[in-house]
Amino acid sequence: MSTPKETPLMEKIVSLCKRRGFIFQSSEIYGGINGFWDYGPLGAELKRNVKDLWWRSMTRMREDVVGLDATIIMHPNIWKASGHVDTFTDPMLDCKTCKGRFRADQINEIPCPQKPSKCVNQCEGEKTEPRPFNLMFTTHVGPIADDDNVAYLRPETAQAIFAQFKNVVDSSRVKIPFGIAQVGKAFRNEVTPRNFTFRSREFEQMELEFFIKPDEVVHKQHGGVAQLGVDGHPGEPQPNWGWQLWHKYWVEERIRFYEGIGLPRTSLAEYWQSKEELAHYAKACVDILYKFPFGTQELEGIAARGDFDLAQHQKHSGKSQEYFDQEAATKYVPHVIEPSAGADRLVLALLCEAFFEEQTTDEKGKTETRTVLRFHPRIAPVKVGIFPLLKNKPELVAKAREVFETLRPSMNVFYDEGGSIGKRYARQDEAGTPFGVTIDFDTLGENGPDLKETVTLRHRDTQAQERVPISKLLGRILPLVS
Ligand code: ATP
Repeated sequence: MSTPKETPLMEKIVSLCKRRGFIFQSSEIYGGINGFWDYGPLGAELKRNVKDLWWRSMTRMREDVVGLDATIIMHPNIWKASGHVDTFTDPMLDCKTCKGRFRADQINEIPCPQKPSKCVNQCEGEKTEPRPFNLMFTTHVGPIADDDNVAYLRPETAQAIFAQFKNVVDSSRVKIPFGIAQVGKAFRNEVTPRNFTFRSREFEQMELEFFIKPDEVVHKQHGGVAQLGVDGHPGEPQPNWGWQLWHKYWVEERIRFYEGIGLPRTSLAEYWQSKEELAHYAKACVDILYKFPFGTQELEGIAARGDFDLAQHQKHSGKSQEYFDQEAATKYVPHVIEPSAGADRLVLALLCEAFFEEQTTDEKGKTETRTVLRFHPRIAPVKVGIFPLLKNKPELVAKAREVFETLRPSMNVFYDEGGSIGKRYARQDEAGTPFGVTIDFDTLGENGPDLKETVTLRHRDTQAQERVPISKLLGRILPLVS
């Protein structure tokens, strides 16, 4: 099985991910399985940080969003109502020359995987007509595998939120406008998984459905609907906002989130879908794109979906999805703004953004390449590396273990006593660890009382070092990593 190595930079990132235990090919010992990836020890921490930060900023830090954790397999009628059974397809075609199978809309981007010599890069062989290919994975529920028992692995987490809308409203004292957030696995039988984890067949989504009043209700209640001003953040939510301002608000909130974890606006782009591109029910859809080494591609989509989803479930289930709005003294099916992000694509973007190679020259004049992952401290898998200067001095080791135990309950720290201090710094630079703490003879007070109980705190990006009392270490580092 080939590993995608579409650009030299991606090749380096893919290789670092494997070497340092960020991302492995799934089932590698059996030759791998295309479109499936596993997160190793560092990758698991990185991805967990990403999901936790999303959850914190989208639910815990807000009074108007609650969470949900629904099943992957749901009643198949959910996917009938949502339109996925009938229309969640990609156009697929076969190349008669190389026998490769492609997405018709990507035919010019994908090198022929089978016989590049025949089809060269543009896959110039004779093609079949494109035909729709449904991306949902099917399975059977119960012991009998027939058509009556077909079920689907969810291709998105969003539908469970719509299906549970009524239960959340009835159980949680939420009032519109409010949102329901969910993080979880989604599955799509992508025709051509590629670009490392960017297009996988199993991945994780982080989705919010934010329910709002229909504009007519806002208009009736407030005598008008606030208009979208010039560019920029529309500010704090107001009762007279309609879908346009809520949509803009969420686009800006999401970009701020990305900035807060180390993806600067300059690495991002917005793509506003044209009227012709929009789904028939959607009022607007913005893709937030990241400038990946293989091209500027979607990280997240933010759609204003009207009342399409709840109305569909109302129709197919026969259960009212109306909400009684006490303030407006009326009933309606709420409209929705949907910021929908992928955790794996975000992890990949963070890895690409963080990856740096630098030439360093040591005191003997030897030049080496230093690989650094400049993760924002909030998402870094390991926050602090703890190093006793020498491993064969029990006092140094004991003090280092003491520092380790002091920091450990508050953050992920890594204790390392193997090899020269330079090598240990280099290993942590490559893992993206923002801080290093070295315990030396000064810490033990062997060179006088002034530096006793202090350690060297090293900053990964500047390589600057400072002396910090052990008693102040936690207070110094914690605000920077949380
Ligand atoms: P694309 O056009 O790239 O296939 P999409 O528009 O179908 O993506 P959505 O259905 O809007 O994607 O899904 C929301 C988010 O889920 C995407 O922005 C992306 O981050 C993530 N996502 C979707 N498909 C995949 C996939 N195959 N692998 C990894 N992440 C995915």
